[in-house]
Amino acid sequence: MNTKPLRVLIHGASGRMGQALLRLAAGAPETWQVVAAVTGRSPAQRVVDGVPFFAGGELAGVPEFDVAVDFSLPEGFDPVLALCVARRRALVSGTTGLAADQRAALESAAATIPVLWASNFSVGVAVLDELVERAARALPGWDCDIVESHHVHKKDAPSGTALTLGESAGRGGAQARYASLRAGDIVGEHVVQFAGQGERIELVHRATSRDIFARGALQAATRLAGRDPGLHTMRGLLFGLD
Ligand code: NAD
Repeated sequence: MNTKPLRVLIHGASGRMGQALLRLAAGAPETWQVVAAVTGRSPAQRVVDGVPFFAGGELAGVPEFDVAVDFSLPEGFDPVLALCVARRRALVSGTTGLAADQRAALESAAATIPVLWASNFSVGVAVLDELVERAARALPGWDCDIVESHHVHKKDAPSGTALTLGESAGRGGAQARYASLRAGDIVGEHVVQFAGQGERIELVHRATSRDIFARGALQAATRLAGRDPGLHTMRGLLFGLD
């Protein structure tokens, strides 16, 4: 059995998610070794707790890695995808707000490397996603509305998770509508409401810590490394469908 830790590159390392990823990986050095941390601008320090930091423009010089874990912004996505393709390494990305051509590039890359993009890496949301599809299928003709709330710094709206839940509702035959709230420091809340005549169902997920996304992404990285090229999914990895 290979007991070497997985060599991970964290892309978006100075952000809210990047910091959570660095902290969780540092807590399990036997499982994950962060060999490079990449930030958008020039890093304030070149080495932090033994981890070398690089600016986004210095990707060509990063050391060998097994998986890149990307939680950056859409403008940072193309270079990290190109790096993974050039090095033939797996990519786990949670960056939301990607443009259609970036999603298409991700799909093309899946011909040569294993990739997993997910709008939400929590186990709870993967289950919510299943429930939404089932509810939509069982409730033809009901209105479906998705209300999502996040902290004031979040740039994209509706959230990537809301759009993914809407796609699942769509597979069940419902046409979802969206509403977004940006307030305070809310980590992430999604309410999926099905409204009929005289009755309503609400399916709710509340994230209270970013660690659920960071932990899910690191676990996905472990499962993705060494897999065949292809477009993998959270549902697939979690429920053994891949
Ligand atoms: P943030 O603004 O706090 O951090 C963004 C990071 O990206 C920073 O480190 C910044 O330096 C870096 N960055 C910006 N441009 C870059 C570039 N060109 N090259 C390299 N790095 C660059 O954001 P956040 O709250 O940490 O969220 C990051 C992303 O993850 C967002 O798209 C957010 O919606 C998404 N997100 C996804 C999930 C999920 O489960 N999929 C969960 C939370 C957040």
